[in-house]
Amino acid sequence: MSGFLSYRYREIEPYTAGEQPQDRQYIKLNTNESPFPPSPKAVEAVTKAAVEGLKLYSDPVSRKLRKAIAAFWGLDESEVVATNGSDEALALAFIAYCGGGEGIASPDISYGFYPVLCGLLGLDNEVIPLKEDFTIDVDAFCATKNHVVLANPNAPTGLALSLAQMERILVANPDRIVIVDEAYIDYGGQSCIPLIPKYNNLIVVQTFSKSRSLAGARIGFAAGQKTLMEDLDKIRDSLNPYNINTLSERIGVAAVEDKNYLEACVAEIVKTRAYTANALQKLGFEVLPSIANFLFARHPKLTGKQYYLALKKEGVLVRHFDKDRIRDFARISIGSREEMEILLEKTEKILKGEIAL
Ligand SMILES: *Cc1c(COP(=O)(O)O)cnc(C)c1O
Repeated sequence: MSGFLSYRYREIEPYTAGEQPQDRQYIKLNTNESPFPPSPKAVEAVTKAAVEGLKLYSDPVSRKLRKAIAAFWGLDESEVVATNGSDEALALAFIAYCGGGEGIASPDISYGFYPVLCGLLGLDNEVIPLKEDFTIDVDAFCATKNHVVLANPNAPTGLALSLAQMERILVANPDRIVIVDEAYIDYGGQSCIPLIPKYNNLIVVQTFSKSRSLAGARIGFAAGQKTLMEDLDKIRDSLNPYNINTLSERIGVAAVEDKNYLEACVAEIVKTRAYTANALQKLGFEVLPSIANFLFARHPKLTGKQYYLALKKEGVLVRHFDKDRIRDFARISIGSREEMEILLEKTEKILKGEIAL
């Protein structure tokens, strides 16, 4: 840290991304990326002419992408703001609504970016513990005096709230914004997007990084009633007016229009998830009933860290969080069937003592 860094940022803790080590080839099951390539139509969108078009600024409002996302979800284009990853959508919403005496309520175990953003922006983060069974405490979120952010399904647990539970939280907080982060919704949850006409305090955030295999393209969006989207655009135009680059916009439009490809990828992951969960249970793991593209699992004979380190030595990366309540768990992204077979084979050997801890 230099002596020049503003005193405001000296103490903040930045987000730690899942590791991307370069020392060898790993089977990467640690950042919930997709094992499949993006839609072939998205690949075809990167033409020579499209690259040459980069000499011009991108469309400040990414109109084509907003339209395509709106069409997919049955929204009006005025109800969508396209963003540089969904992390940007979260940041725009936090900046737009918090700070005037109200902070953000979020669960103790959830996406690590929420407390980081609160730190950066100097916001109060009201931390509401998950219940004993790792589900979200709906009553506590109904009783909060802060704005709310929830990942649904939650990460790293993979557990989701029903639409009825989300509605209870929305109804209980009429004067506060409820941000629902649906990064993993395509793998089996019920999206809150159909609730948008009913609630003027609802903002849904989604990403193209997971189910659409485009983590590197940095595409996400926020959806909500028109006036909310005007707020987010105001902040976006004050911070990063050309937030989506031209290539990513083209790729995003092609990806969102290829609904069949999305459905095929999701179906494959859902099948492999069931297979892997079952196999882990047979090996003695407790596996939370995830409806995301990852499993959160623990074994009575292994700490999360032991399991993570033993797998890493064998060339398989999973995510371990050195944090109260979840220290015993590993979060395992669902890769291809072949990748999961290797994970299971290594796991069996670890449990048999054939791979040293
Ligand atoms: C992966 C993830 C995101 C997505 O971030 P991007 O910036 O869109 O890549 C957002 N929220 C949660 C809970 C995630 O796990």
